[in-house]
Amino acid sequence: MRTQVGIIGAGPAGLLLSRLLALQGIDSVVLENRSREYVEARVRAGILEQNTVDVLTEAGMGDRLHREGLEHRGIHLQYPGVRHQLDFPALCGRRVWVYGQTEVVKDLVAAQLAGGPPLLFDVSDVAVEDVDTDSPRIRFTDADGVARVLECDVVAGTDGFHGPSRAVVAEGGSGQQLWERTYPYAWLGILADAPPATDELIYAWHPDGFALYSMRSPSVSRLYLQVDPSERIEDWSDDRIWEGLATRFALDGWELSTGRITEKSILPMRSFVSAPMRRGRLFLAGDAAHIVPPTGAKGLNLAVADVVLLSRALVRLLQDKETDLADAYSDTALRRVWRATHFSWWMTSMLHTSGDAFDAQLQLSQLRRVCSSEAAARELAENYTGLPY
Ligand SMILES: Cc1cc2nc3c(=O)[nH]c(=O)nc-3n(C[C@H](O)[C@H](O)[C@H](O)COP(=O)(O)OP(=O)(O)OC[C@H]3O[C@@H](n4cnc5c(N)ncnc54)[C@H](O)[C@@H]3O)c2cc1C
Repeated sequence: MRTQVGIIGAGPAGLLLSRLLALQGIDSVVLENRSREYVEARVRAGILEQNTVDVLTEAGMGDRLHREGLEHRGIHLQYPGVRHQLDFPALCGRRVWVYGQTEVVKDLVAAQLAGGPPLLFDVSDVAVEDVDTDSPRIRFTDADGVARVLECDVVAGTDGFHGPSRAVVAEGGSGQQLWERTYPYAWLGILADAPPATDELIYAWHPDGFALYSMRSPSVSRLYLQVDPSERIEDWSDDRIWEGLATRFALDGWELSTGRITEKSILPMRSFVSAPMRRGRLFLAGDAAHIVPPTGAKGLNLAVADVVLLSRALVRLLQDKETDLADAYSDTALRRVWRATHFSWWMTSMLHTSGDAFDAQLQLSQLRRVCSSEAAARELAENYTGLPY
């Protein structure tokens, strides 16, 4: 097998990269070690920045997004006795969309399988070789158990946090640097058949811990509770979860709507950055190179920003034979990564309680500031809706 760009991983980063390259006449093959059903059912992010919506729309992936996605003009910040709306268009002229990552992935997979570049599910034993030459290759075993070799001009490592690509960059003696922060809390997330009881997402600070009210559609809510990372999901009955949510979102005159919980899980929270995002002809993008805690809704959006940059760099490299954008890719991508890493850390630090009384007063002071100062609110709005590319 031969292709121009071998792409490892059919998450949003890999699928969108393949699509953007195809639109520019560059061929690729996407290799995914899970099944189509698994990849399409994986519940993860749900907030799309305006940039992401624009990119998906320009890539011909906007039909269902514009039909079924929910356009949001802001968020509510809450602390005891106060629920304050930040109006994003008024603050920064931009907005966000609620459209699940599962739906983004389904749209991209459908387009790929309807005449797009090859997309192979259920592969195994993926190994990247010769990335320091101009003809790297990927060895893998296909779904029928046959060992195959994919010869490439470039390999894109879009295989998420647990994929094999990042280790290949590290082995190259490129002076790989890692930065990591593990937070002392986790999110217990549920998906519920309950109509959202709010027009915008609610980010709530409460002495018991943070809570987030978000939604996936007019009939499905996605809610989160800050919990200790050592908590086990089996210890959280549906009643216990709804009670915790009712306490943390409590506000006079407002009621939580409840419903059947269809999914629940506990997610650890971590910030992680690996640099450089390139070794020779191997380029990393998305969670393969960086992770942010979900409080700033940046993970999926950063993956999209990476592949927009990377697709431009690869078009220049493979069509114009110019290396300038490829050489600049890692540094350019990392500037945005660090901005999002700071914003996600800041939102996380402002909203999650540690049990320390001094910390709590600092957090409440910061929340009051964001809710009363236009400058402070604009800083949050600009980062949340996504700084322009
Ligand atoms: C449980 C969870 C919940 C999240 N919730 C939120 C949220 O609420 N808000 C938010 O903004 N972000 C959230 N995120 C982050 C967001 O989902 C990610 O940033 C986003 O998925 C990144 O896309 P990606 O394509 O880079 O990586 P991924 O989506 O991880 O895709 C990588 C793909 O590579 C495949 N792969 C891995 N190893 C191999 C291999 N050896 N061979 C072939 N394929 C391989 C994987 O199966 C996967 O399909 C969450 C992440 C997780 C893990």
